[in-house]
Amino acid sequence: MSFVFDPPAPPSLAVRGRSARFPVHRIYCVGRNFAEHAREMGAEVERGTPVFFMKPADAVVPGGGALPYPPGTSDLHHEVELVVALGRDAEGEVPVERALDLVFGHGVGLDLTRRDLQARAKEKRLPWDTAKGFDASAPVSELVPASVASPGVDSRLWLEVNGALRQQATLGEMVFGVAEILHELSRLFRLRAGDLVFMGTPAGVAALQPGDRFRAGIDGLVTFEGRIAAP
Ligand code: MN
Repeated sequence: MSFVFDPPAPPSLAVRGRSARFPVHRIYCVGRNFAEHAREMGAEVERGTPVFFMKPADAVVPGGGALPYPPGTSDLHHEVELVVALGRDAEGEVPVERALDLVFGHGVGLDLTRRDLQARAKEKRLPWDTAKGFDASAPVSELVPASVASPGVDSRLWLEVNGALRQQATLGEMVFGVAEILHELSRLFRLRAGDLVFMGTPAGVAALQPGDRFRAGIDGLVTFEGRIAAP
């Protein structure tokens, strides 16, 4: 097959202990999955209905490093999240009991958000794409294969900015667990190997400024760090 121009290489993430990389297919994100964060955003969690949105696959930034301050905002927010990476295609709807079979591994990432644009979109009942799906809006650590280690409900998810703790929670505080989220997504989309799922952020979201340094992690699993570069 030939193309009218060379297609770009697929976005990808490093995998711990492997030289082969994880090719990213889609990036799904869960909103309002920690009750305290939902409250700080002025929303209530509705238990029956997870909130989903997406980022383009090439918004992924492997491994942190220097992240550009995006144009079009003066209120760039951090949201630290567990990132679930899928290693198998799903055949249609996946029951909760079998959903974890799809998981290749886990990482930690930031769902970077133009909070000012999101607030305007919510006010006018407009979509969130410009607030959530911008270039370099999805920095993610290396992935840890589930065969090596997996986080549990007691694992602590955290983010420090310039050495000060900004966000932390245990994964058991998530309103919807990983299996439930994969089940719900599979009812709406065809899940594929290469999909990433950002599982939602705890309370404590706040602004990042050019020059800020961050460190994020899930205890016992993975850490990563980077900084916000000049616009
Ligand atoms: Mn988020």
